[in-house]
Amino acid sequence: MEVKTEQFKEMAAKAACNETLNRTLRHAGESFRALREKGFSQLEDPEGSRRRGHEVKDRCLSRLPELLRLLEENVIEAGGVVHWARDASEARRIIMDLVKQYGVRTIVKGKSMMTEEIALNKELTRKGIEVWETDLGEFIVQLAGESPSHIIAPAIHMNREEVACLFEKKLGVDYTEDPEALTMIARRVLREKFLGADMGITGGNMAVAETGTLALFENEGNIRFATSLPRVHVALIGLEKVVGTWDDFGALLNLLPRSAAGQKMPTYLSLITGPKKAGEEDGPEAFHLILLDNGRSRILGDTVLRESLFCLRCGACLNVCPVYERAGGHSYGWVYSGPIGMLLNSALLPPGKARDLAFASTLCGACAEVCPVLIDHPKIILDIRRRLSEDPLWKGRLALEEVLPMKVYAWLSLHPGLFRSAALLARTFQTLMTSSGRWKWLPGTLARWGEKRRIPLLKKPFRTRWPGLEKAIRGGRKKH
Ligand code: SF4
Repeated sequence: MEVKTEQFKEMAAKAACNETLNRTLRHAGESFRALREKGFSQLEDPEGSRRRGHEVKDRCLSRLPELLRLLEENVIEAGGVVHWARDASEARRIIMDLVKQYGVRTIVKGKSMMTEEIALNKELTRKGIEVWETDLGEFIVQLAGESPSHIIAPAIHMNREEVACLFEKKLGVDYTEDPEALTMIARRVLREKFLGADMGITGGNMAVAETGTLALFENEGNIRFATSLPRVHVALIGLEKVVGTWDDFGALLNLLPRSAAGQKMPTYLSLITGPKKAGEEDGPEAFHLILLDNGRSRILGDTVLRESLFCLRCGACLNVCPVYERAGGHSYGWVYSGPIGMLLNSALLPPGKARDLAFASTLCGACAEVCPVLIDHPKIILDIRRRLSEDPLWKGRLALEEVLPMKVYAWLSLHPGLFRSAALLARTFQTLMTSSGRWKWLPGTLARWGEKRRIPLLKKPFRTRWPGLEKAIRGGRKKH
């Protein structure tokens, strides 16, 4: 996938003005948030489960070299083959060698951010191999010639009408906006592809070292087909996906589907230990596991960025992020978007490539509040910003209109009397300056800045609202 992280500001500004996209993302975010809340409310000890998830990831990453060796031994023992890829080009080369070795002409794929990370589809197509995404959302973005805009909902940026038009144009079917009919159309097309494919390529949600088992979570059943119908299955995972034991796996299984879609369990859970064995009817004849580094071992040695490797790819932080909701996933310019995208893109791409992303956060902390493995996004973002502020290439790139208001705010915060007077003035003048949540007028270059921003009305000062809020929060906690 082409890296466009340097264009974040322009792409986000454009997306923020797209009312249809804003509405679609707002509705999707609301639905995901409600599902997650319901999923976690069914846990006896949600906070304890999140702490356990954090502890599992921390411990497994601390023992990573040992666990990876154990995983390799057990995959080989089960009849599989393990490959190590230092970077994206090595991973692509390994896959192309396997394609040649098995005489592959058609490939079906399960949803995999890792294959986006190595831009695999482009390479396969360039070499004349037919490749089909089989997850419904991925299938839609593939037809549209786009990339996924959300970790678990790749086509979240498209509404029903857009999908209907796309299917009519690309698949030559009658126009329909009925979701069930659209799903059936995709199913019919993909069923043919599954039956004719020589190779299935997937990612993996976890790999359990003690038995050499790959775990795949899904809700559509397409991964079951992709891993069992073709004669070869290739799985590409990042080094950080390995866990030690089935107990570790259980702790994360308890969190990931709940956090992603409010589910106790995914609809389909595939546990794959090697290729099919003698006497078994289903499954591939060959199973290859590719373990991709692509910058991960470097992040592992960084005491702050290391925590970004805890990510389970549930997407919950995207669904609560006010910046993601306005900017959409494509604005982030590479595979990962939202709060986790800021961290991973900054950490995995060459230094400086994702500079602007470090500022795509209000630091509201909503991401850290929902993360099932307690990743502290704001802390990491602040650290990335601190490093940038010390980078001579970055210094001086912040515009005066961005720096000045922050300096004034910082100074006012240290002078409570003046802060109160300024807030009173702002409340008085806001009706003159704004209309329907938009700035009516701003001086000089601030006018351009204001064009893209909604301005919530300042009502009662926070300190006068706080006693009532505190009472409500305490009341809520007691009930819980
Ligand atoms: S950072 Fe946390 S909330 Fe965000 S996708 Fe990863 S696991 Fe989910």
